[in-house]
Amino acid sequence: MAEHESLEFGKADFVLLDNVSLEEFMANLKLRFEKGRIYTYIGEVVVSVNPYRAMNIYGRDTIEQYKGRELYERPPHLFAIADAAYKAMKRRNKDTCIVISGESGAGKTEASKYIMQYIAAITNPSQRAEVERVKNMLLKSNCVLEAFGNAKTNRNDNSSRFGKYMDINFDFKGDPIGGHINNYLLEKSRVIFQQEGERSFHSFYQLVKGAPDAQLRSLHIQRDPTAYTYIKVGGQIKIVFSILQSSINDSADFKAVTDAMKVIGFTTEEIQTVYKILATILHLGNLKFGSDGDVTLIENSKLVSVLGDLLSTKDENVEKALLYRTVATGRDVIDKQHTHQEASYGRDALAKAIYERLFCWIVGRINDIIEVKNYDARVHGKNTVIGVLDIYGFEIFQNNSFEQFCINYCNEKLQQLFIQLVLKQEQEEYEREGIPWKHIDYFNNQIIVDLVEQQHKGIFAVLDEACMNVGKVTDEMFLQALNGKLAKHAHYTSRKLSPTDKNLEFDRDFRIRHYAGNVAYSVVGFIDKNKDTLFQDFKRLLYNSSNPVLKAMWPEGKLSITEVTKRPLTAATLFKNSMISLVENLARKEPYYVRCIKPNDVKSPLLFEHERCKHQVEYLGLLENVRVRRAGFANRQLYPRFLQRYKMISEFTWPNHDLPSDKEAVKRLLQGCGFEHDVAYGKTKVFIRTPRTIFSLEEQRAEM
Ligand code: ATP
Ligand code: MG
Repeated sequence: MAEHESLEFGKADFVLLDNVSLEEFMANLKLRFEKGRIYTYIGEVVVSVNPYRAMNIYGRDTIEQYKGRELYERPPHLFAIADAAYKAMKRRNKDTCIVISGESGAGKTEASKYIMQYIAAITNPSQRAEVERVKNMLLKSNCVLEAFGNAKTNRNDNSSRFGKYMDINFDFKGDPIGGHINNYLLEKSRVIFQQEGERSFHSFYQLVKGAPDAQLRSLHIQRDPTAYTYIKVGGQIKIVFSILQSSINDSADFKAVTDAMKVIGFTTEEIQTVYKILATILHLGNLKFGSDGDVTLIENSKLVSVLGDLLSTKDENVEKALLYRTVATGRDVIDKQHTHQEASYGRDALAKAIYERLFCWIVGRINDIIEVKNYDARVHGKNTVIGVLDIYGFEIFQNNSFEQFCINYCNEKLQQLFIQLVLKQEQEEYEREGIPWKHIDYFNNQIIVDLVEQQHKGIFAVLDEACMNVGKVTDEMFLQALNGKLAKHAHYTSRKLSPTDKNLEFDRDFRIRHYAGNVAYSVVGFIDKNKDTLFQDFKRLLYNSSNPVLKAMWPEGKLSITEVTKRPLTAATLFKNSMISLVENLARKEPYYVRCIKPNDVKSPLLFEHERCKHQVEYLGLLENVRVRRAGFANRQLYPRFLQRYKMISEFTWPNHDLPSDKEAVKRLLQGCGFEHDVAYGKTKVFIRTPRTIFSLEEQRAEM
């Protein structure tokens, strides 16, 4: 018996459970986790439990075992899903995508990297140099993006603080010829503030700990992260090393990231500018404002010349941008001095904005370099795509703000897509094809998606409306508007609406009942983060830098004060639009799913916290997934297509049949093979219940 069929390790596919109940599901999941079997299928969905230890299952020999094999031939693995997506792309010319979901720390990013490694390993057998170059860049890009986009949080030492969707493009031979990365909402507030126990983005610590002395000197940076206000707020400078968890080595990573940027093709000047920008942010954080009577001033004015040097601009320009704001009043343009508070606000906004812009610029540069060039579809055939989505998981923190709200909305959208593609479409197809079918209930979260994104009534719309108002709009006024509009919504409440609810601690909170649980959000900062204002003076300052790399990052600084008229789109609108287009993009592709589960909160390889895991299984809708899958059929094919592939195995159909229809011919063929009990005949397609039948057909075909 094949190893994956042995009962000792539980059922390799939840569809094979004797009874589909939550108890049995959990018992199987736990047994497999304890036996070191971290992957289990639900049909073609992979359920993965984070092992929190190095597993010897990703090496070259394992890759060889999965290459070109059918899903059920080997024990469940990410490689099998990657191979299935690859085969669909190669054999059927389909664009596919692999959607990896799960909460923070569940193992999404690791999974996405293993999938990419697998695809890199199985392609380009003829070792074409150009393809090798592309593969190398795709893999190297992860290291750079993680340095700038990941951070230690209380949930995960290497938490992705941005969403990432990466397309890998393949030529007609099935070899990677390029790629494209879309990034989503970087949590830039982390640049200036971290919750206790957390860190800012890895890149800062890498620079301070790992850069050579001479480089640090030229950046005026000391080798001591605690000297910099912005990156010491969370208090967790060092990531504790333990044998049980992979840890982070900032100084070694500095070298790896710098090397990766070089390999990808960043110029020396570009790399230097990247580090100058990081240093600028560190210095900005130490800038102190004071006042002398009515005059706001910079207390540690030495830093101004450091900033001037790093930004390649005159010191007085830096000082002016930090202390004044140019305003147009009618025809006049005047310099208005900031208050102490405005100056601090401006400084923090600048730090966040230049980091975010740097990050987007890095992604853009990588895209310039990896994008497919000179591909002529008329000559080479269709260029197909595998997309890999690794986006921030559902989050509930002690204090949840605008960022968590966006992240959780994103997870609602993806859950909705899962429902659409896996649950709803499946059932609809059976109905359409006239296959007898017992409807299976599941919670449809569309109602929560609407609550957030609906025009005029949704939370984002109410927020945007509040931000449009002239005059001072406060977060509390926004909350009042929400309460007014959403008082009756089943998934919305707030302290005002439910005064006796003990879980709503603060007046400033509103609570959403998400598909994955209740989350109370504090409205503090919503207006500000949504408006996302950066004084125009800063944009002009950066645009006027004599460093061409920096200048190119800030094209909008070109406009003079009197030319700036358009109000920029709000952060919520931008995010909503990017999510809508992401989901549309995914929906056009053939999807494969990896559902990641986090077994415990203490990063232990031994602990399977039952309640915690059960909660994830419930909200991910895994049990419904099993039910739909079990009631359903593993495989379906249009009659003519089925015949085309298998007609040689039956005397009734080879070389041609004389039956009244292809449907009758398929029936005759399957009867002849003894598979009658395992199939159903729809209007246009034959449905096959178990994959074993397909294997057997494939085997017979191969023997012909
Ligand atoms: P976030 O949403 O915060 O980005 P995530 O789902 O991307 O979280 P990962 O960063 O992939 O989570 O995983 C967290 C940690 O768990 C990893 O740094 C690693 O230590 C461990 N881990 C995850 N998957 C595996 C695996 N397959 N083998 C060994 N360790 C793993
Ligand atoms: Mg991640």
